[in-house]
Amino acid sequence: MLTCDAHDTWTQFLDYIKQRCSLTAFENWLAPILVLDSSTEEITLQVPNIFVKAYLVDNYQEELCSFVPVDANGVPAIKFVIAEQEPSRPCIQEAPPPSPTADELPLKLNQSYRFETFIEGPANQFVYSAAMGIAARPGRSYNPLFIHGGVGLGKTHLLHAIGHAIQKDHKRLRVQCITTEGFINDLVDNLRNKSVDRMKKFYRSLDVLLVDDIQFLQDRLNFEDEFCNTFESLINQSKQIVVTSDKPPGQLKLSERIVARMEWGLVAHVGMPDLETRVAILQHKAEQKGLKIPSSVAFYIAEHIFTNVRQLEGAINRLTAHCRLLGEEVSESLVEKTLSELFQAPPSQKISVEAILKSVATVFQVRVNELKGTSRTKEIALARQVAMYLAKELIKESLMMIGACFGKTHSTILHAFKNIENKTKKDESLRRQIALCRRHIETR
Ligand code: ADP
Ligand code: MG
Repeated sequence: MLTCDAHDTWTQFLDYIKQRCSLTAFENWLAPILVLDSSTEEITLQVPNIFVKAYLVDNYQEELCSFVPVDANGVPAIKFVIAEQEPSRPCIQEAPPPSPTADELPLKLNQSYRFETFIEGPANQFVYSAAMGIAARPGRSYNPLFIHGGVGLGKTHLLHAIGHAIQKDHKRLRVQCITTEGFINDLVDNLRNKSVDRMKKFYRSLDVLLVDDIQFLQDRLNFEDEFCNTFESLINQSKQIVVTSDKPPGQLKLSERIVARMEWGLVAHVGMPDLETRVAILQHKAEQKGLKIPSSVAFYIAEHIFTNVRQLEGAINRLTAHCRLLGEEVSESLVEKTLSELFQAPPSQKISVEAILKSVATVFQVRVNELKGTSRTKEIALARQVAMYLAKELIKESLMMIGACFGKTHSTILHAFKNIENKTKKDESLRRQIALCRRHIETR
């Protein structure tokens, strides 16, 4: 039986804690807890997930003793019930005002990648809760946290969200967020300047290291060792590490030593959001842009774009631009007119490297064999890079697999991709040629 007293003591506890923690911590961790039952021996609390339970017990054990029943060992007598999730109803958290100190620190984080702007759904609920848990108790929950999943599904977003939250709620901790490429470049620069020791010292003095896209460490043997040493040094001091990757640790072409280290902590997968979550994401992104989308239209778009969240964002950007230019409201016909191209894209796994080579050879008037060869003639080299660019864009495979099809390493594919991406920004005719190749491939 739930008594008024139970409510009163819990409310008193909350009032007491509210004065002693940040508003965000209070709203994220304490406000969602409900009192289900209470007696003189025990209180039953409903918590949204195990992380909230751990947060409460780890941080407020002493305070709890003054407000709730205590057992024979002097420990708060709390029975926890984990609330049932409602998977079909993704929730959007309200954005708190940005942290005033965020810009003063050298830590570079995307300002919009925060927990509050991340839409939860069944495909990412686990990883979202784990990330929140890490942010609340860096180094004390799961270490390392390894987040993996496909492109554009929110891995970087969550990584930065952890960074923002720690920066805000644990001001004294030294946090650094790096891409694996950034780490390698840093190491190369420091090797050149003979300042590796300084760099090692810097990385090893951190409290929290957030590492994006660890897959780029594959095939970089010399760097792998240094990374592994840094990693171990931090983990041994219970410093928090979070890593993202496009595949699970076991599938990474890295040494057994580093794979084992990655598997030490918690490995969490982020998947493609289901239809309802995609609709919530669309509406959230539209709202941010000041665009009104009727819910039937949001469902229509979400039904047709299902590969990744970045594409959903692209759709919103395109719609916003059209609505502004044409002065029209969002409607199904406007959506068809502006987004049909995105909708018509056939499932990318059906596209083969062979088909891409043929189309590129036709459009660029070179032979397929020349594209497969090693000739460095300007025209052939450009066409070859376009083929790699299209392969990376259209084929849902890892860079390593794509590289293998071309007989190149993943970094060559990435280099080609970036080069062509930059060139298309300035070169209208190259852009048209690539669009032609794409149409050719997709309608073959
Ligand atoms: P990844 O690192 O997995 O390739 P990102 O984190 O860069 O993907 O996400 C791509 C874009 O999609 C970002 O702009 C991000 O904010 C957005 N995004 C991805 N998942 C979500 C989500 N669940 N809620 C809100 N935005 C999301
Ligand atoms: Mg990313």
